[in-house]
Amino acid sequence: MDLRDTPAEAELRKELRGWLEANWREGMSQQEWFAVLADSGWAAPLWPQEYGGRGASASEAIIFNQERQAIGAEPPPRGIGVPMAGPTIIQHGTEQQKQRFLAPMLRGEEVWCQLFSEPGAGSDLAAIATKAERDGDEWVINGQKVWTTHAQLARWGILMARHDPSLPKHQGITYFICDMHAEGVEIVPLKEMTGEAIFNEVFLSDVRISDDLRVGQLGEGWKVSMTTLANERMALGLGGLGGTAAGAPVDLAEADAESSLETMGKFIARGPHALVELTKRAGLAEDPLTRQRLAKVYTMYEVNRFTGYRITTALMKGQGPGVEASTGKLAYNQLVRAVADYLIHLSGAGAIGAPDDDKLMKTAERLNLVVPATSIYGGTDQIQRNIISERVLGMPKEPRGDAEIPFSEIRKGAA
Ligand SMILES: Cc1cc2nc3c(=O)[nH]c(=O)nc-3n(C[C@H](O)[C@H](O)[C@H](O)COP(=O)(O)OP(=O)(O)OC[C@H]3O[C@@H](n4cnc5c(N)ncnc54)[C@H](O)[C@@H]3O)c2cc1C
Repeated sequence: MDLRDTPAEAELRKELRGWLEANWREGMSQQEWFAVLADSGWAAPLWPQEYGGRGASASEAIIFNQERQAIGAEPPPRGIGVPMAGPTIIQHGTEQQKQRFLAPMLRGEEVWCQLFSEPGAGSDLAAIATKAERDGDEWVINGQKVWTTHAQLARWGILMARHDPSLPKHQGITYFICDMHAEGVEIVPLKEMTGEAIFNEVFLSDVRISDDLRVGQLGEGWKVSMTTLANERMALGLGGLGGTAAGAPVDLAEADAESSLETMGKFIARGPHALVELTKRAGLAEDPLTRQRLAKVYTMYEVNRFTGYRITTALMKGQGPGVEASTGKLAYNQLVRAVADYLIHLSGAGAIGAPDDDKLMKTAERLNLVVPATSIYGGTDQIQRNIISERVLGMPKEPRGDAEIPFSEIRKGAA
């Protein structure tokens, strides 16, 4: 692809740089910045103007991200709301839902979570068993969700539930908006090996949801959830193009204030330059074995850069990142593991149970504890490989023997 700006894009880039410099101030509160972004439409540039976006193209959104990143401005609200729940409500929701939910979401005033995964439904999401039973104008929800990121902070959740188990598994599902403060919603934090509790189990016991909060038609839950997941892939694709400026100085102290996942994302986004700097600080820049390892990680960074260009190309052509997102995610996962390993190489055994005052060892420890997550969320490595094998390499599809039979007749726990 040609990565140079068209004259119109170059003009937009200049305008945006000026706008960002005039509006972003180091030290402004997150709420203030979110309000500026929401008022200007740059909180969700791809959304239609009538719902608070700019109706921008993917290339305009990417230019905004690059310019924002270049001056070190914080991103718009992330998480589940703006990237995933918002586009789903815009595409499938009622006008009343759009008016109620989109504005506070854009301003970061209401946090959202995703109530999809269950103990028996992760990669095979269509196996969800949470029940939705109609009672007049309401639905009564019973079941258990798991790995629900930020459920403890969320005001609303996007929920998949099964309203008819007599239908085949993809057909009997309906999509709802769940009030996380409703009676019967119990949130139990899951402590991760990083020591943090970002995700949760969510138990839903006789939770009543008004039919006004159904998104899409009865039985359209699978189709609606595909919109959510396509937007997740889009966010992962665009997200790789944002983050901390590559080449920014390495200040490991900032890691104290963030979650391990944020530390990892920002550290990786700095690029291989950060590793070169840390290698020099560790006094290992002349060590041949270290240089060889560093060259390998550097190569993986380059692979990621070019895979990123493929995703950018797909987005600029107006295609959702399809299989490019799978190759991109796999390449990224391999990179983060290699970087985490390299940090261990630099810091040595001290990175295990690292003291708080040794920032290099602490960062090495945190990255190593959190990297396995990247191979799981947003579709596991094995699932990405399945997608690549079927859609790129043309290998035979996995047998999916249970897709046509009623959900209630599927032997649970069977492969
Ligand atoms: C940090 C993090 C945050 C998350 N946040 C959320 C959230 O907010 N909301 C939410 O709903 N979910 C969330 N998840 C859950 C995530 O979507 C699931 O963990 C993921 O889809 C995998 O499902 P599972 O854990 O049930 O594993 P399983 O699907 O049971 O898989 C177990 C193993 O079997 C492999 N496997 C499964 N099927 C196949 C196959 N067909 N071919 C080859 N191998 C296969 C998998 O790759 C994996 O290695 C989060 C996960 C993580 C790690």
